[in-house]
Amino acid sequence: MNAENLKLCEKLVSSSYVQQGAQARSIQENKIRQLLQHRKLPEEGWDDITIELCLQELAVMDSNNFKGNCGIGEREARIASSLVAKRHYRLGHGIGRSGDITAIQPKAAGSSLLMKLTNSLVLDVLKIAGINSVEDCFVVPMATGMCLVLCMLTLRQTRPNALYVLWPRIDQKSCFKSIITAGFQPVVIENCLVGDELTTDLSAIEEKIEELGPDKVLCIMTTTSCFAPRIPDKLEEVAVLSKKYDIPHLVNNAYGIQSTKCTHLLQQASRVGRVDAFVQSTDKNFMVPVGGSVIASFDKNLLQKISKTYPGRASVSPTLDLFITLLTLGSTGYKKLLSKRKAMYSYLSSSLSSCAAKHGERLLSVPHNPISMAMSLTVADGGDNERLSTEVGSMLFTRFVSGTRVVESSGTETSVSGYKFQNFGAHHNDYPCTYLTAAAAIGMTESEVDTFITRLDKVLTKCKKRKTNSGHSTCYQEIGSLGTNGDELVTFTGIRNDTSQQE
Ligand SMILES: *Cc1c(COP(=O)(O)O)cnc(C)c1O
Repeated sequence: MNAENLKLCEKLVSSSYVQQGAQARSIQENKIRQLLQHRKLPEEGWDDITIELCLQELAVMDSNNFKGNCGIGEREARIASSLVAKRHYRLGHGIGRSGDITAIQPKAAGSSLLMKLTNSLVLDVLKIAGINSVEDCFVVPMATGMCLVLCMLTLRQTRPNALYVLWPRIDQKSCFKSIITAGFQPVVIENCLVGDELTTDLSAIEEKIEELGPDKVLCIMTTTSCFAPRIPDKLEEVAVLSKKYDIPHLVNNAYGIQSTKCTHLLQQASRVGRVDAFVQSTDKNFMVPVGGSVIASFDKNLLQKISKTYPGRASVSPTLDLFITLLTLGSTGYKKLLSKRKAMYSYLSSSLSSCAAKHGERLLSVPHNPISMAMSLTVADGGDNERLSTEVGSMLFTRFVSGTRVVESSGTETSVSGYKFQNFGAHHNDYPCTYLTAAAAIGMTESEVDTFITRLDKVLTKCKKRKTNSGHSTCYQEIGSLGTNGDELVTFTGIRNDTSQQE
């Protein structure tokens, strides 16, 4: 309430009470003022009332909420359902303008402010997470794969001869498909097996560049966050190659913001070589519903080009979700989530390690993957046990364990957009053993780890018993009782038997 209104209030309620109320209110207004002033994550998270107050203030600045506004255009943010209006805090204009997703929308000062503020908050979070010299970023209402497409289509504008994208193999369909969707030919760089780890083959990348010619290569697409036993790509070395041959370097940092190892890789790579843009999913890093990504860069101009490549306006939803979430957490809350995650990684890895030892298995040695880990499943290896790996995956799935994957190198060939892969899911043509993966992702709790280990222990005990009794009829019955037909059984093998990030 402004001073004039407060004066009027004092005619109705005793002035000391009104002053007290006004004082309480000014605390909230101060928070909003500081947000507008510094455009940084508040240290302490805001309460819901303050956030809603702020959103209301923004919403009344959009033309669809003007009293007596008369909309004569074809897009006036009219919302038929009051539920839908409430779900969006009455912000109906979306973000951006036809030619730029980060442009100000004249009909929607409030939505435009929300967009600008959210992008600033995210930039701050990227720095807090360890990418100190990031220049700029923006939220896009599309998931990671589509944002990679947008980046490649932007790079194409300055590389007219480019036909190929060099892609160190990461068995995740959406990033592979993003190359095809953008209209380029993926050149798969197979990984090197070093100990248990799968890592970037740098000389193969350089050979390919020489063979194809640097100007024929649109970009090198590396990946930070990935399933063990693959580890983050050698970002610094690739960045150096990228600089040497003047080829753009695009980084798929899908869930890497939550790990300082991944963010430091990005930071270092940009220091020693070339990183053009990096993309991360909002849901995987910030605990919001699926639907958005953040495109970020060390180069403001390139980022602006990318935002101008996006045609038309965009949904405000992922921006709104992120704005609310970041204000709720504050920098203290987000940092807490990050350190909790790190602790959960240690907890999960020691719990999984003991469980593995109990069953004659072992945790694969993948010290360079900071999020995902893998445990051998030799129980499923060998001759007539080839179906057992399938069973472990589905038994866990039916016991409400989501996100684990059982990967076997059974020699199957999978076709992704017409490209053939041996043992897709394993990041390698012939990984030496069958294994199960688990990830310590942001938000994971001790009790989830405990429950997972208890269920895994039961499943492994059961499987071992069945293996020694030979014959898997009971296991199959269990799957059968779910009404799973032969076709769906196939979807339980290897990479597809999960409900995790891999989707
Ligand atoms: C999640 C993920 C993607 C992208 O998936 P979207 O559904 O497009 O967000 C790409 N690569 C990796 C490694 C991922 O984990």
